[in-house]
Amino acid sequence: MSPATIGPADFAPFRAEFVDCHCPTCNEVAYALSDVLDFRGRRHLAACEALLAELRAGTHGRVTVDEYVTALRAEKAAKLAALREAGAPASEIAAVERGYVRVDMAFMREGIGAGFGGTG
Ligand SMILES: [Zn+2]
Repeated sequence: MSPATIGPADFAPFRAEFVDCHCPTCNEVAYALSDVLDFRGRRHLAACEALLAELRAGTHGRVTVDEYVTALRAEKAAKLAALREAGAPASEIAAVERGYVRVDMAFMREGIGAGFGGTG
């Protein structure tokens, strides 16, 4: 499929299926759209093509916000259980409880000179 051939009209018949959907494919469309490094929109176009292919093939699995949140909470609970079982440090467990993404603290201190401390 040529990238220039898809447009809003292609998605119109499936609108009810993907609006407010949080399946991995729809999430990728949203992430790609907000990717500031996707200068030419290639990631977004690829994501849209993948979504359109699923919609046309009838393989798109709609995920509601409630289902998405429930799945994320279950994932977090499983991650916390695994960390506790593995005897992870309290700071790491606390970070997962807060929902923060792990960052490379050395980069934060030295790379951008933000200078905030922490356990590294
Ligand atoms: Zn979806």
